[in-house]
Amino acid sequence: MKTKSHRARPHAVPSPAPDATPSPRPLRILFVSSECAPYAKCGGLGDVVASLPKALRAAGADVRTVLPLYASIDRARHALEPAGGLQVPCGNGEINGCGIWRTVAAGGIPTAFVEHDRYFARDGVYADRNGDYGDQAFRFGLLCMAAAELCRVRGWIPDVVHVHDWPTAMMPAMLDAWRKTGTSRGFERTGSVLTVHNQAYQGYTHPSVLPYIGLSAPEYYTPDTFESCGALNLLKGGWVYADAVTTVSPTYAAEIRSEPAGAGLSDFVRRRGDTFQGILNGADYDIWDPERDPRIAASYGHNSLIGKILCKRDLQHRLGLALDDAVPVLGMVTRLADQKGLGLLRDVLPWVLGEMHVQLAVLGSGDPAAEEMLRDLQHRYPGRVAAVIGYSEDLSHRIYAGSDFFLMPSLFEPCGLAQMYALRYASLPVVHAVGGLEDTVEQYNEGSGDGTGFKFYAATAQAFHDTVAWAVSTWYDRPTHMTRMRERAMTVRFDWAASAARYLDLYRRVVSWRP
Ligand code: ADP
Repeated sequence: MKTKSHRARPHAVPSPAPDATPSPRPLRILFVSSECAPYAKCGGLGDVVASLPKALRAAGADVRTVLPLYASIDRARHALEPAGGLQVPCGNGEINGCGIWRTVAAGGIPTAFVEHDRYFARDGVYADRNGDYGDQAFRFGLLCMAAAELCRVRGWIPDVVHVHDWPTAMMPAMLDAWRKTGTSRGFERTGSVLTVHNQAYQGYTHPSVLPYIGLSAPEYYTPDTFESCGALNLLKGGWVYADAVTTVSPTYAAEIRSEPAGAGLSDFVRRRGDTFQGILNGADYDIWDPERDPRIAASYGHNSLIGKILCKRDLQHRLGLALDDAVPVLGMVTRLADQKGLGLLRDVLPWVLGEMHVQLAVLGSGDPAAEEMLRDLQHRYPGRVAAVIGYSEDLSHRIYAGSDFFLMPSLFEPCGLAQMYALRYASLPVVHAVGGLEDTVEQYNEGSGDGTGFKFYAATAQAFHDTVAWAVSTWYDRPTHMTRMRERAMTVRFDWAASAARYLDLYRRVVSWRP
């Protein structure tokens, strides 16, 4: 806007007032992560690491991201360009040669990829069909060291390094070790923020990795630091050494202050005092918006849900469900992990299908027994159950758009993005009221028709069943309430801008602690 008005009135450009102070340079924030959509995504972490930098940049920060170059990342499709090599010194004196690739991610985020075949030329992010990789700490340790080295070489030293979950949670301790040994080489004043996207995954590994990541001093392997039950607990080190820690919803922040949600680390959570807080994730409405989503059969908005009926027919047709507008479709898009309430699903889905007139469309993969259970349901209820075992970004959009209700009986849920997307697509969530599900879904009020979904509070099969029955009876018996809830669900916003403003405040605080 300024440029425009200056051009229009060239003589009117005001000279700076004598006491004008130069505007401060933008905060430099370095994201180091094992996931970032669309390059590598296993769950919500990948979405957050794609969206939050965009919102931070829009708010004026200078954000860059560093990721591993997994074999599964299609360099041509994502316009990755080679950007030279990098010699990465490790704590044990080893030097690792890495290649650097770069691209500009959505929202203008400069993104670098660390190529190191020994660690990253594998299809999986964390595991393959033989199970979890055994050298995770070496893999992601190298990523953290390479990220720092890249910043040094490029002369772009971040004010704050923002790391995510156990894979990069070791980086704050690495900064600490560099400071204590006088080997920071530019990172003396760099602060650190750890975001815990899921406290249940902590990255247990063998302590023999410590010298490699520069943490060979005895202080890093004690019960007060990285040691847990005779093993190295990477997430715990983040809790101890990061300048500030966040998690992804206020309710989850409260839950992990005690057990069992604290997953053995609740003491460390409580010790943080006000250097720990919950900041609700946002949803990226550039991607998740039924009014302009190229992946769905028809667009629709809260003023007209006709497109949603077309999306439902498209989903039924694609998945081999009976074409029927009048039957509610229950949708799910999920990792099939215990956390997602697999036990409740096993007990309740056959019960629901046996007594209610509904269809079920599930997309998910993970636990083999859960995959089998879903295939079995599809076999028993042809035309009523579709179980797609696998991962498909495309189909996930179609399920959000084509379903009427979205099931999330999670035992715990740090934030949950799936229910936010479901809300935007007018698929009303049926959720266990924990963590971010409690924070983002408003309970249906049968009297007024207010609310955006259906919540249950006890993690029991009876409670889950009854709540699905409540949702289904609302569909059949109170259509005006359904319409009202859908309209409300579609207009509720979880904007990244608000969350980004809170992260920026936090970064400024962290910077002020390291003058
Ligand atoms: P979590 O991070 O615990 O997996 P979230 O609800 O925060 O749960 O985020 C899940 C994200 O992963 C959503 O974007 C969801 O659409 C996506 N997702 C999960 N499973 C699949 C799948 N099988 N195929 C495609 N997308 C999936």
